[in-house]
Amino acid sequence: MYDYDLLVIGTGGGGMAAAIRGAELGARVAIVEAGTIGGTCVNRGCVPSKTLMRAALVYHQAGHHGFAGVHTRQEGVDWPKLIAQKEALIEGLRQEKYLDVLAAYDRITLLRGWARLQGEGRVAVSERLYRAQYVVLATGARPHILPLEGIETVEVLTSTTAMTLPQQPRSLLVIGGRAVALELGQIFARLGTRVTLLQRSPRLLPEHEPVIAEAPGRLPAARRTGGAHRGAPPGHSPGRQRKSGAGRRQRPTAAFSCRAGAHGHRAGAQHPGPGAGDAGHCQA
Ligand SMILES: Cc1cc2nc3c(=O)[nH]c(=O)nc-3n(C[C@H](O)[C@H](O)[C@H](O)COP(=O)(O)OP(=O)(O)OC[C@H]3O[C@@H](n4cnc5c(N)ncnc54)[C@H](O)[C@@H]3O)c2cc1C
Repeated sequence: MYDYDLLVIGTGGGGMAAAIRGAELGARVAIVEAGTIGGTCVNRGCVPSKTLMRAALVYHQAGHHGFAGVHTRQEGVDWPKLIAQKEALIEGLRQEKYLDVLAAYDRITLLRGWARLQGEGRVAVSERLYRAQYVVLATGARPHILPLEGIETVEVLTSTTAMTLPQQPRSLLVIGGRAVALELGQIFARLGTRVTLLQRSPRLLPEHEPVIAEAPGRLPAARRTGGAHRGAPPGHSPGRQRKSGAGRRQRPTAAFSCRAGAHGHRAGAQHPGPGAGDAGHCQA
């Protein structure tokens, strides 16, 4: 006897899609969440990064739109207000697109707690054991901090904590040259933080077409030093930057966005089958 036809672990985009489709097909579905409902995209991924990118673009364009006779000025960034607005957006979308949607499906039960696979369709959630005919692992990934020498000498950020900082940093070192690194670098640079991007591959976005990968390096604020792109803050020439920095040397803040570690193995998945690969990817 099963408690559920389908038990989905994780309420991110993947888990939500699986649960909703299961309910639409007539299954009795449970969806389990240990953290914040909605997973990465709405809480710490697509939504916060895109809203901050948009804000950064608006600020950048206020000083760099190129239209003669149109007078705009960059008058500063109120970082706490910007972050608070972003949080309000996340909260609204989480309610509307996740909690309200789950509540609208009679056939879906939300279980709160950490799920662990017990074999043969049994899943432990907190203290209770559930049996399900099918189990879907939609446990996503989490940021992985690289074991670099000297890492302990800087305040390490992940893509998650970088977008919730209480204050805007004056400088930021971003390690990685793929989408998340470029998004974060772009946000901070356009809002006035001095950003240095470190990448080990010969070009940015190594998996993309060269024409796409070359575009970020052509941005006016980007200049290449050896293997790295340095994005100077808008409206700040290096000279002006030194002046506004009052000659003080700042310890850079490092944001690590290079790799994601899978959650699957922490839910008890093992080889063969869905689980964590050596590189931190899920294997199927
Ligand atoms: C900064 C950033 C920007 C991004 N921008 C984009 C974008 O613009 N477009 C795009 O397509 N993608 C983007 N992504 C990627 C996208 O967010 C993820 O690919 C997507 O959210 C993954 O969804 P998921 O359902 O697989 O996992 P997740 O959304 O990570 O959800 C997994 C959920 O499972 C829960 N969980 C894990 N283990 C357990 C357990 N054992 N028990 C119970 N619950 C558990 C977690 O708490 C989490 O809530 C971005 C990511 C980041 C970090």
